[in-house]
Amino acid sequence: MLQPDQVYTSVAELPVESLADEYNAVIFDRDHVLIDETGTCDPQRREAYDAINDRMETCILTNETLRYDGDPVPIADRFDTYVIDDTEPKPDSEGFEKALAMLDAEPEETVMVGDSPITDIYGGNNAGLTTIQVEPYGTYPFPLSVSKPLEHGLQRVESLVQDLF
Ligand SMILES: [Mg+2]
Repeated sequence: MLQPDQVYTSVAELPVESLADEYNAVIFDRDHVLIDETGTCDPQRREAYDAINDRMETCILTNETLRYDGDPVPIADRFDTYVIDDTEPKPDSEGFEKALAMLDAEPEETVMVGDSPITDIYGGNNAGLTTIQVEPYGTYPFPLSVSKPLEHGLQRVESLVQDLF
């Protein structure tokens, strides 16, 4: 439930060519995946975003209405489209359905890339997507600095339980 299909350190490490061979669309979480807690990202990630967008249909799906310097979605220009869904936030399936509709893609041809075991990985698995977890980009500000380690702990417990049975 909380286990991703693949794990990478960052979006810059994604195997773009092999993903593009197998999938047609990618949905990205925004915070701590594409940008750090200040709303910025490094040149390596920007380069990766462009390579991915060149090969596949891309969408940002975020629960957060937080703006950075007045911009609701920094780096949005590097992706095809975006969805801000704060009414039925991830892991609810509504945002994933909206994103798939905007991408004109089916779940089985789509990858979800995120840092959160609950909102991104559980939500993506539940929506029938292939899920990729990346390590958090930057540091979590309070209160996320409390809740996120709990999410990751829950994910490890689930993994241990699965190994036992
Ligand atoms: Mg995130």
